[in-house]
Amino acid sequence: MTSSPPAAPGDDIAAIRQAVAALCAHFPGEYWRTLDRERAYPGDFVRALTEAGFLACLVPEAYGGSGLGIAAAAAILEEVQKSGGNSAACHAQIYIMGTLLRHGSAAQKAAWLPRIAKGELRLQAFGVTEPSAGTDTSAIRTTATRQGDHYVVNGQKVWTSRAEHSDLMLLLARTAPRDERRRTEGMSVFLVELRAALGKGVAIRPIRTMMNHATTEIFFDDLTVPAANLIGEEGKGFRYILDGMNAERILIAAECVGDARWFIAKASDYAKSRVVFGRPIGQNQGVQFPIARAFAASEAAALMVERAAALYDAGEPCGKEANMAKLLAADASWQAADMCVQTHGGFGFAEEYDIERKFRETRLYQVAPVSTNLILAYLAEHVLGLPRSY
Ligand SMILES: Cc1cc2nc3c(=O)[nH]c(=O)nc-3n(C[C@H](O)[C@H](O)[C@H](O)COP(=O)(O)OP(=O)(O)OC[C@H]3O[C@@H](n4cnc5c(N)ncnc54)[C@H](O)[C@@H]3O)c2cc1C
Repeated sequence: MTSSPPAAPGDDIAAIRQAVAALCAHFPGEYWRTLDRERAYPGDFVRALTEAGFLACLVPEAYGGSGLGIAAAAAILEEVQKSGGNSAACHAQIYIMGTLLRHGSAAQKAAWLPRIAKGELRLQAFGVTEPSAGTDTSAIRTTATRQGDHYVVNGQKVWTSRAEHSDLMLLLARTAPRDERRRTEGMSVFLVELRAALGKGVAIRPIRTMMNHATTEIFFDDLTVPAANLIGEEGKGFRYILDGMNAERILIAAECVGDARWFIAKASDYAKSRVVFGRPIGQNQGVQFPIARAFAASEAAALMVERAAALYDAGEPCGKEANMAKLLAADASWQAADMCVQTHGGFGFAEEYDIERKFRETRLYQVAPVSTNLILAYLAEHVLGLPRSY
């Protein structure tokens, strides 16, 4: 990786959007299509985004980042998606370092953050989900057992995205057995140096998925992690991870808005130019209305993303808004994706139009990083006060 200093993108979100759009113009549909076909990692794109400082946008200036807020980060990711690209290759770096920033010691922050901000180290991997636990994070079985000045980690993670392209991983493991009365206690967060651990207690196996996502499963077999790499207090890890959830939801929602805007622009252009029965298909209300409906849904979702980001940046509670933003935006992007295929007829299925690729990519956000049902359960039970279902 190169180590050129991040060029702080500045405070003005419109200028940030322009700069990201200009960068993305160097990575057209053909670039993403080729990678998709080969299920290859967009290394050049991630390098360009890193060198421009965008992946360090939330890192405070004192550690070499741009010290921007979540609204700016959301604008960056939305622009990538709106250009036809896919920031899933690197988006986690923007928000998972928040755990280190908020809960790491001064020594840990000084040791890691400047190198992450410079692009010398990638912190792209986030190991939470496990095959037998699923959405119930308190049921994870990966353990970290203290032995003197280090921990010994055993277990397995699944869907750990970008692990093969990351130097570091934020890992959630059990440091105490699950207690039924306090299920979310007894888990801890560690910073794992993945590169050094490969073949020495860590094995990574890629999972081929319906879209190009560089996701993996990871096996831990007596991996040694220095006790100095424990983030915050032992046993409080779940709380630290939860702290970062609102940021993650707002940023993924912004990506969905970007996707929706890409689909709507693509469909509108096509509906104006494709002539069937002697007139543009977009002259038929049967073609116009789904585009208009998708547009209304995406603009409403964008407002909720803006609202959630403003609350987050003001340090106000935003759980309700961040969850609604993610729900509405993921629904809007999926609605727009389906509409775009329909507007294009047969050509919606042709690889060279990029629609089928973006369709596959945006489908993910109904499931990950949090599934629609779990957001609905949060709204029903934590916001509206309905009885708990789990
Ligand atoms: C491509 C991809 C990348 C990912 N990247 C990462 C990553 O980098 N790091 C990481 O830690 N994880 C990652 N994940 C995991 C992702 O967060 C989980 O897949 C997601 O949270 C759902 O968990 P699950 O797949 O175990 O589904 P399950 O928990 O098995 O749930 C299956 C279905 O049942 C529903 N369901 C479960 N319980 C309830 C309930 N009580 N009420 C209503 N519905 C319920 C869910 O909504 C879901 O639709 C990734 C997943 C994918 C597919």
